[in-house]
Amino acid sequence: MDQKLEQILNQYQEKIAQIVTDKDLETTRIELFGRNGLFNDLFTKMKDIEPQDRRSYGQNLNVIKNELERLMALQSQKVEKTVKTKVENQENIKALPKIGHLHPVTQTERQLNALFKKLGFSVYNSPEIVTDEFNFERLNVPKNHPARDMQDSIYIKEPEYLLRTQTSTIESYLLKAKSGDLPIRAAFPGSVYRNEKVNRSNHFVFHQYQAVVVDKGLTMKDLISTMDLMFKTLYGPEVVVRYRAKYYPEVEPGVGPDMQCFNCHGKGCPICKYAGWIEMGGSGMIHPKVLKSAGIDPNIWSGFAFGMGLDRWTMAQKNIKDIRTLMGGNLAYKPNEL
Ligand SMILES: [Zn+2]
Repeated sequence: MDQKLEQILNQYQEKIAQIVTDKDLETTRIELFGRNGLFNDLFTKMKDIEPQDRRSYGQNLNVIKNELERLMALQSQKVEKTVKTKVENQENIKALPKIGHLHPVTQTERQLNALFKKLGFSVYNSPEIVTDEFNFERLNVPKNHPARDMQDSIYIKEPEYLLRTQTSTIESYLLKAKSGDLPIRAAFPGSVYRNEKVNRSNHFVFHQYQAVVVDKGLTMKDLISTMDLMFKTLYGPEVVVRYRAKYYPEVEPGVGPDMQCFNCHGKGCPICKYAGWIEMGGSGMIHPKVLKSAGIDPNIWSGFAFGMGLDRWTMAQKNIKDIRTLMGGNLAYKPNEL
């Protein structure tokens, strides 16, 4: 066979085998068999071939043309099959049910972040390993204070470094950092840690949501109305809340909000320990000693703070009855419960 024809055959065999799209198939088809294509040119040039060789040249040319046409048809089938599989795969992906969702605690946290941002608060976070000074002392819990027994702490290095036991710790850092930049409106969600036995309502790691306001002339009315708004945002306007006087070392006076049990609506059940009410957190007017230790003059400035168990709020909001559900790995399989 003519050397040039053999070269053409080899070159196009390779080229056709590599085609993966319809567009490239068409371009190659035009290049080979189109009106101004390679074969038209080769057939036109047959007249320049010596008459005695013309016949065999023509036959060879036809053989090569047929072979390349066969390869093109084969490749066209392959391309079609690949495109079809791709489309089918995409349809399969579309058909998969949506099982992913944000963790319920994250959902509640974001709802609260949105509310507080609307009220002009900034949202903060801070490290989880803290010093005894910021976790206790600056919050009016000196060494040997009985309130330390209320929180069984997890120490990283005794007696100084521990995992924060409450989001009030973020408050101590914040008050110190912003003492020269008042007033303050801040909210901070975060994980907290205590050496607790795990059961349906307690866990050694849980989440709190804290808010703190420092301004001039704040009263209990400001505190209660802010908390009311928070309850209504999460549980709707019908929510029933009561506020009871409570002791917390970092506030004076202290108030504990209780919400009517979401499960039994006040009748009494295992979730509310037959009380009909669920304790939702602690709050109060910031103790003058706490303000003073941050370098804020309590004769000029006043403040209120509240901290809530975010897990408990989430459980009440989404009717989850066991805190261990929130820490487990199979939440994704129960989207209807949430
Ligand atoms: Zn109940």
